[in-house]
Amino acid sequence: MTDPVDVLIVGAGASGAAVAWSLAETRMRIVCLEQGDWMNPSEYPSAGRDWEARGDFSYSPNERGRSTDYPINDTSTPIKAANFNGVGGSTILYAGHFPRLHPSDFRVKTLDGVGDDWPIDYETLSPYYDQNDQMVGVSSHVGDPAYPDKQAVLPPLPLGKSGEALARGFNKLGWHWWPADSAVASVPHDGRDKCINLGTCASGCAQGAKASADISYWPHAIRNRVEVWSRCRVREITVDSNGMATGVIFYDKEGVEQYQKAEVVILACNGIGTPRLLLNSLSNRFPDGLANSSGLVGKNFMCHPYAATYGVFEHPVDSYIGPHNCIWSHEFYETDLTRDFLRGYIYESVRGYGPVGTGIIGTKLGKIRWGKEHHEEYRRLFDHMTFLMAICEDLPEEKNTVTLDSTLTDSHGIPSPKITYTISDNTNKMLKFSIDRATEILKAAGATDVFSRSPLTEGGWHMMGTARMGLDPSRSVVNEWGRSHDVKNLFIVDGSIFVTSGGVNPTSTIQALALYIADAIKKRLGNLFE
Ligand SMILES: Cc1cc2nc3c(=O)[nH]c(=O)nc-3n(C[C@H](O)[C@H](O)[C@H](O)COP(=O)(O)OP(=O)(O)OC[C@H]3O[C@@H](n4cnc5c(N)ncnc54)[C@H](O)[C@@H]3O)c2cc1C
Ligand code: SF4
Repeated sequence: MTDPVDVLIVGAGASGAAVAWSLAETRMRIVCLEQGDWMNPSEYPSAGRDWEARGDFSYSPNERGRSTDYPINDTSTPIKAANFNGVGGSTILYAGHFPRLHPSDFRVKTLDGVGDDWPIDYETLSPYYDQNDQMVGVSSHVGDPAYPDKQAVLPPLPLGKSGEALARGFNKLGWHWWPADSAVASVPHDGRDKCINLGTCASGCAQGAKASADISYWPHAIRNRVEVWSRCRVREITVDSNGMATGVIFYDKEGVEQYQKAEVVILACNGIGTPRLLLNSLSNRFPDGLANSSGLVGKNFMCHPYAATYGVFEHPVDSYIGPHNCIWSHEFYETDLTRDFLRGYIYESVRGYGPVGTGIIGTKLGKIRWGKEHHEEYRRLFDHMTFLMAICEDLPEEKNTVTLDSTLTDSHGIPSPKITYTISDNTNKMLKFSIDRATEILKAAGATDVFSRSPLTEGGWHMMGTARMGLDPSRSVVNEWGRSHDVKNLFIVDGSIFVTSGGVNPTSTIQALALYIADAIKKRLGNLFE
């Protein structure tokens, strides 16, 4: 047993990095345990020509199968788990699309009678969104009418040929579009260089323009004496007879079991890793898993079903060049009672695929066939296809769960998580609507062929809701500032604490929440456990 630390964070991804950086100014001893490695950007697929063929950077932990990954049973969900385990977490692979939730997202029950209201509102998070934008270096264009006023940090990324084509379609229909906020640097920022349009963002950015957490927050946190212990996998959180967390049992780099004492434990393992760890932390006092007196740990899992609608153009659209996203539309975000579903979605434009991706998707969708037309059909798609993805709001339902699998374990023998999830009727209607509208947009933009894919089965990259926040301990796992209702020195800062999912990518909100919770801890340091 080593000396106790003041704060022990589990997970060095988007939220772990943000909370560590913010708490560092307290000069407490802060240690973050991360099961994965530090990344070496020179080994990213984007540093080589075979970047589309590298299985070791697959989105799916089950396909990747690194020793630092844990398998996830995703046979009972149409949407498969996608993540990355390492310093930087899933931001190593994320595309950096960086919307915020809307003010209405925090009041879904009040406005629409579904889901639940959050115990905080947009105004509470607004300063933390701003602080996070600064740390991350968000490229954006001020004045987007979809949001309350917010400041731009870096100039927007170029629209490119695909963004211009799509914008023409939205303009013809009179529908909202705007240059997308992006965690990709349009100009040098905080020691990181600008984007050079490699187009490989979602397999790691060797240029360092994309703000993965290992190169945005961690260098600052480490300079302020936070320690990251990589290749340390936490098995369980220990508690004393008063129900307070005392530390964690983990496996170190050599695979040897260790115990680390801590005054405060913060979980940042994402919406699957966090409930898994809580459910694996059994004790006499908490026989159903730690912090689980509500029975809600692992329930209300949300993951944003996606629909992709593709348009093929006669002119090149630079589909394989540049950061993934260029424009977004919030036209269909808010509830409209004339539709047959509640809530809504954002359109995230995606420039397109590289040469291999074009072949795979074209073949899968029957647009590139074997035979004498094969090359011609490939040429028709490559660099001529761009698409709109609808990120559909997923409402919380207790039957959608992360539980422990009865047989599957990771390389240390720790029980693995299992996802059980079905897409709701409301979301299915939204997916269909989004394809119909995207078809109109792409046709208005001049696409000669339009087709779609829904849901994106590989797209389980947003993990939310499995340890929700709330004021009522019988209806939530953590309180309105991220502290467990049951265990007064245990905090959760990742996407697990979302009450509803909104219809936007979550990382901007996840990091804003982590900064907000860090501030709440700092403000209460004298009486944190009252
Ligand atoms: C391909 C892809 C594209 C994406 N694109 C976008 C996008 O454009 N915009 C957006 O907003 N979001 C995007 N996301 C999602 C985004 O990456 C996540 O929302 C974000 O990283 C979640 O942050 P987190 O801190 O909750 O978890 P993570 O960043 O996943 O970090 C969790 C960390 O905890 C560690 N951990 C877990 N369990 C343990 C344990 N027991 N012991 C020790 N360590 C542990 C893991 O190894 C991991 O490093 C994308 C994700 C993927 C995979
Ligand atoms: S397009 Fe820009 S952000 Fe994406 S990988 Fe290349 S340099 Fe990095």
